[in-house]
Amino acid sequence: MHPDVQKIMLSEEEIKDRVQGLGKQISEEYQGEEILVIGILKGAMIFLADLVRNISIPTYFDFMAVSSYGAGTESSGAVRILKDLDKSIEGRHVIIVEDIVDTGLTLKYLTENLQARNPASLKICTLLDKPERRTVNVNVNYVGFSVPNEFVVGFGLDFNERYRNLPYIAVLKPEIYE
Ligand code: 5GP
Repeated sequence: MHPDVQKIMLSEEEIKDRVQGLGKQISEEYQGEEILVIGILKGAMIFLADLVRNISIPTYFDFMAVSSYGAGTESSGAVRILKDLDKSIEGRHVIIVEDIVDTGLTLKYLTENLQARNPASLKICTLLDKPERRTVNVNVNYVGFSVPNEFVVGFGLDFNERYRNLPYIAVLKPEIYE
């Protein structure tokens, strides 16, 4: 275990099993179609890489980067597009792939923004969901795990850009946040 980690919330094995299940479910539900997965950088990168390798239908990728927490652990509420999609999504079956849904502000903004570009369908897949923290209503279609209201890192999620490469989801020791 990394010396800064207080506890592992979700192990590598637990994540692997759940991501396999999500990939299978998506492959079944979109049988006969092609999908475009939109990864939200940088947090969703590791999850997306594992998820798409468990999807058996034709799958295309694109990426967006949006501003989120900056250097702290509290959402500012402001969402800004730092990198937009490379191509049009009109008429495509789109799945937004996120690392975590917290207040829901980021996804509310993203779904409204992407819906206006006329996809054939638009769904949301997130590795983690913190339902207790929701301040706006967003319809999340695929959830890896519901987690309690604790700040987590690893498997793509960072604290000040660190810990993204941890292969599990963890809570850091309190002194690290100070
Ligand atoms: P929301 O807009 O739903 O409040 O926040 C979404 C974004 O906040 C996520 O994509 C992620 O970047 C960040 N976030 C929310 N909760 C956590 C957390 O527990 N750990 C980390 N590392 N980021 C979080």
